[in-house]
Amino acid sequence: MSLLPVAEALTRILDVATTLETEDVDLLQARGRTLASPVVSKLNNPPFDASAMDGYAVRAEDVASVPVSLNVVGEAGAGRPFTGALRKGEAIRIFTGGSVPDGADAIVIQENVDASGPTITVRETASVGANIRPQGEDFRKDDVLIEAGRCLTARDVLIGASSGHGKLPVVRKPVVAILSTGDELVSPGNPLGPGQISASNAYGLAAVVEAAGGEARFLGIARDTFASLEDRISAAAGADILVTSGGASVGDHDLVRPALEKAGAKLEFYKIAMRPGKPLFFGLRAADGKTQYCLGLPGNPVSSMICARVFLVPLIGRLLGRETPFQAIEAVLAEPIPANGPRQHYMRGLLDMSSAPPRVTPFKSQDSGLIKSLQRADCLVVVPADAPAQSAGTPVKVLKLDI
Ligand code: AMP
Ligand code: MG
Repeated sequence: MSLLPVAEALTRILDVATTLETEDVDLLQARGRTLASPVVSKLNNPPFDASAMDGYAVRAEDVASVPVSLNVVGEAGAGRPFTGALRKGEAIRIFTGGSVPDGADAIVIQENVDASGPTITVRETASVGANIRPQGEDFRKDDVLIEAGRCLTARDVLIGASSGHGKLPVVRKPVVAILSTGDELVSPGNPLGPGQISASNAYGLAAVVEAAGGEARFLGIARDTFASLEDRISAAAGADILVTSGGASVGDHDLVRPALEKAGAKLEFYKIAMRPGKPLFFGLRAADGKTQYCLGLPGNPVSSMICARVFLVPLIGRLLGRETPFQAIEAVLAEPIPANGPRQHYMRGLLDMSSAPPRVTPFKSQDSGLIKSLQRADCLVVVPADAPAQSAGTPVKVLKLDI
């Protein structure tokens, strides 16, 4: 199998992925979830003509020449409407959020009124509609307020509640089972024996999954034996995605691919023209009666995180039906870069969004052993396979590392 171009690999992954089912969630759980169908208002906002100020509801024509005295015949507070109608020469004491009584068409603010007993003297004129928020001015019943596919913000939750929804329809979170593989791995926080390393990938990947809108399920560490891998893979049943890290190349101990195939995975591809991260595979299997997407990431921590950004985040986005499952942005190089080899290169760097167009500075060293440079980076510059050397100022595509 020759090396598959990244764009083709991504297309093949996204082409087989379909949006998951819908569930209703309480507003308190809605932020960060993906809206499954449009939010249509059940209400007018405001629901009635409402006063925007504390003052007096009047007939504008009664205050056309001032000063003028009016009789106060009632009160309208928020939630306590005045039930009668206003007649010529009358005023109603009203407070912010109070329903404007029938017959009134303006609110005189209290600062422009002298009040004594049941009579007031209005000192300033008020035109029709003054200080009134008309019914439905903001939005109306049946207005589409939020489109499907949006990752709900705090502001979306607010308008969902304002428009009469107690729950919102969202796409079920994809469950992503994460399996680390390797005889050398020790759970983080434990002392390392000779030749051992801290098993970091699953933690970084779980954080990526959660930030991308999925639900991470830890499968622990499989040792480099068929039996151990089979045991852990069987624990992935029910997950929508199974992500493995390590054991994906062709070394003697790289058993993940054959173990997955034995567990029913049909391999779509397993080598990508990408740097870092050549040994990446993707396949599908039926697990627990449903399709499970199997993504085998490289063991190298930098490679596994970059491959997760390039393939796993868009896959989760597609399962969620997100409107923008992945977003490469345009920037210009702040520094020249050398010619690229035959694999599309994802260079760690820093993005300056304060200039237009944004400027990106790739780090000098792109050694995939350097976890610290990944941690410091806030973006990946996408350099196409076989691209010639590029000078500063050249437009490039950039993937933000905002999760
Ligand atoms: P492998 O693909 O299994 O040969 O792993 C490639 C490199 O990544 C080796 O140096 C592994 O020790 C390292 N590695 C594999 N899995 C992990 C992990 N979960 N966390 C940190 N490093 C890992
Ligand atoms: Mg290994």
